[in-house]
Amino acid sequence: MTYSVVFPGSYIQGAGALAALGKEASKFSDRLLLVGGGPAAAPLLAKYEQEWKQSCKLHYIEFNSECCDREIDKIILEAENSRVGIIAGMGGGKLIDTVKSVAGKKKLPLIIAPTIASTDAPCSSEAVIYTEDGKYLRSDRYRNPDIVIADTEVIGKAPARFLAAGMGDALSTYFEARSCAKTKALNQCGGHLTIAAYALAEACHKTLMKSGRKALQDCKNQVLSKELDEIIEANILLSGAGFEGCGLAAAHAIHNGLTKLPQCAKALHGEKVAFGVLCSLMLNESPKPELDEIFSFCLACGLPVSLNEIGLDASDLRSLRIASEAACAPEETIHKEPIKVNADILLSAILQADEYGKALEKS
Ligand SMILES: [Zn+2]
Repeated sequence: MTYSVVFPGSYIQGAGALAALGKEASKFSDRLLLVGGGPAAAPLLAKYEQEWKQSCKLHYIEFNSECCDREIDKIILEAENSRVGIIAGMGGGKLIDTVKSVAGKKKLPLIIAPTIASTDAPCSSEAVIYTEDGKYLRSDRYRNPDIVIADTEVIGKAPARFLAAGMGDALSTYFEARSCAKTKALNQCGGHLTIAAYALAEACHKTLMKSGRKALQDCKNQVLSKELDEIIEANILLSGAGFEGCGLAAAHAIHNGLTKLPQCAKALHGEKVAFGVLCSLMLNESPKPELDEIFSFCLACGLPVSLNEIGLDASDLRSLRIASEAACAPEETIHKEPIKVNADILLSAILQADEYGKALEKS
């Protein structure tokens, strides 16, 4: 039996950490392609451009699209034309996965600088590729980033909904790890889970339960607190290295199923994953104290606890069946759960989660 776990080369977190981007890049090459996206990118460029240019030649381009093959090919062309020796991505999850794909295909060193903590994409080697109109297509695996720079001043001041969604994504790490541990399923790097990876998943969960609510309030009030720092680390590092080293299971498969429905398009990745976690607890017949703890956590953090909150309705069985069937496709990670799941069983778990969530909302 082979055990494996993967990490980014280095992880740097702190207020103003992005100032070091040029210096860190220059350890690999003096020609840097920086891809920026989202509202934070332009102000950050204005703030740090001169400092970065002291260490390397900077070629900057904007990301404005979906993480799809066309955008990846476009940035590959930029990398070739500007003859860079290292690539960095500064922005949200889709930009990160796009840049990861470019670095992987061009075999370039990679720096990831997330400007929001809405997913656990930054540290991982996985890139989730969508169609041009945002439907899940496939997951590719490359190398883990050489450096991840999490600037808490930037991430902590981003809209709180992103931080909450990141907590939703991070919430799945422990539950999916627990299922994979029970079934001895392979993790995302094709090996069995290590003590190290499981410890990360557990630490991720404990941090969410301990600091999640306070961090969200602090993010809303733009206060860079210890709890906010802890949640940024949980969302990015603990969840990123945790999910990859432990494995995915039902929550992410349910997310993938939900992306088939246009009604869910407005819900963020972590919001759909969080609802997937709630459904997975129903699938596994979790005890009531655990249901109460996790449903309450989601409710307190503005994460969806009912179908309405992700644009769906319990009476729309046709749509729910489409999502359930997609989530139960043979290649999906839902089959790493310790129980046998098919679309009928999942559909009933989804309805159960919706009922439980609706009752809690009313109470
Ligand atoms: Zn995820």
